[in-house]
Amino acid sequence: MNHKEPSNKAAPLLQVKHLCKQFLIGKSLLKRHRAQLNAVNDVSFTLQKGKTLGIVGESGCGKSTLGRCILRLIEPSSGQVLIEGEDLTTMPAKVLNKMRKDIQIIFQDPYASLSPRMTIHEILREPLDTHRMGSPREREEKIAQIMQEVGLRAQILNRYPHEFSGGQRQRIGIARALVLEPKLIIADEPVSALDVSVQAQVLNLISDLKNKRAISFVFIAHDLAVVQHICDEVAVMYLGHIVEQASSEELYRNPRHPYTQSLLSAIPVPNPHKRSKAIILTGDVPSPINPPSGCAFRTRCQFAKPICAQSQPQLTTKKETPEAHKIACHLVQ
Ligand code: SF4
Repeated sequence: MNHKEPSNKAAPLLQVKHLCKQFLIGKSLLKRHRAQLNAVNDVSFTLQKGKTLGIVGESGCGKSTLGRCILRLIEPSSGQVLIEGEDLTTMPAKVLNKMRKDIQIIFQDPYASLSPRMTIHEILREPLDTHRMGSPREREEKIAQIMQEVGLRAQILNRYPHEFSGGQRQRIGIARALVLEPKLIIADEPVSALDVSVQAQVLNLISDLKNKRAISFVFIAHDLAVVQHICDEVAVMYLGHIVEQASSEELYRNPRHPYTQSLLSAIPVPNPHKRSKAIILTGDVPSPINPPSGCAFRTRCQFAKPICAQSQPQLTTKKETPEAHKIACHLVQ
């Protein structure tokens, strides 16, 4: 199969089409009777150049698996990932490795994502050498420029990751993602392992870089409050499905899916006169190995009706919502 769709530079930067990822769980020599875990279920979205999409949901909802499937760090089971019209999912490894220069990742855990045996200089120089970017002198200039952009002093280049705080290590992780001048960065919970005081600094840095460099981000988080000011659009995931998607402004102003409403109600509001009652979700997230029939959220939804157990609601635009606002709920008209 030809990995190239018709080349189209006017195509959106990223298109994810009907992406699915299943894992087979448990040991069996015959590979029969193994349970299937549906981590990502028929996920589709489009991301334009220079825009940021937030993917939000509780632990285990499939958001990190989705991020890794986009990069093919995990092979998707089916569906397509198109970068400027080129299909990553069918691309030969050699071509994919070249394309990886354009798509980088910032990992959640800055402690684990940096090699403890490499100096900061080696960490930043390695991708430039691998992709043969510029002359040796230009590579050094690029490292110096990136260090400055992420707020790190050039004097620390010969030190090792363990010598830095969590926030500084995440800055190094961001520098490593930026050094190849990617078009797209998958930021996988980049602040959730950091202290609250440091989170704001790293979020501000990502926001500045996004505006300055017009890089597109897929920003994965478990907290809607984190993505509110950084994302142009937000998709809320539950048990592998996107259940609501809208522009950031619209989603926070007019959440329609009961799950989004509960997530938003849990965000602390500093003004006591504007506080709304928190919607407490009862029960745990169901197992993705044995998800509920129909709507995956029905076992925790206070509005569930018999129809919710019978068929899975599709992610569609509803009456009185803008075209780009999509909700997967039988009861939202
Ligand atoms: Fe709740 Fe039913 Fe809507 Fe699912 S489809 S969110 S169970 S009302």
